[in-house]
Amino acid sequence: MKKEKLAKLADELHKCTACTFRESAIAPVGWFGNPESPIVFVGEGPGGVEDDYGCPLIGPSGQLLDKALWSVKMTRNRVLTTNVIKCRPRNNKTPNIAEADFCGKLWLEKELAIIQPKVIVALGGVALHFLGNADMRITKDRGQWFKTSQGFDCIATFHPAYLLRLSGHDLVTAKWDVFHDLEAAREKVIAAAPDYQLSSEAPTNLFSLFEKRKK
Ligand code: SF4
Repeated sequence: MKKEKLAKLADELHKCTACTFRESAIAPVGWFGNPESPIVFVGEGPGGVEDDYGCPLIGPSGQLLDKALWSVKMTRNRVLTTNVIKCRPRNNKTPNIAEADFCGKLWLEKELAIIQPKVIVALGGVALHFLGNADMRITKDRGQWFKTSQGFDCIATFHPAYLLRLSGHDLVTAKWDVFHDLEAAREKVIAAAPDYQLSSEAPTNLFSLFEKRKK
């Protein structure tokens, strides 16, 4: 049922031209994963690699996310990943709060209403502002549980793109923070959906799944 509803929403999403971000993108990039997943990871928006492949979080940030998920025994095919913004902003500009709000209310809220996740993980500041509020800060509020406006339990952690910009001691500290945040999310989702299998035997090869769109 969720699968059919999401497929219908994906058809509508692909026709969206409601804002200027669509002009510089190949096409809107929706979500990837299992519609029955009790956990959803929400990033910021597609970059160049995501736009090319039509898959969220498949580029360098996504590869780092996959490693982090593997470290807490989750794989991309068993969870669901998506973004607040669906079209790649021109020059990979970071969307402002109004831009993120506009797209997020049109599409992400509808996705979440269908999926009804037990736990959401907000990756980075844009997702935190949309799912929490504009006053929240990723450096201050990551690792803290809050309710989204739709009533879902949400925890924020650093976006993997942020980790890719760090080095040395800062990188080690931030990686541990992310690990602990993901562990907290895993603990909560297992308590809420103890029978759901969060991982396959091997990490998901997204590039082979999405190579057709890239060609
Ligand atoms: S960014 Fe969102 S609102 Fe704008 S055109 Fe793409 S899907 Fe539509």
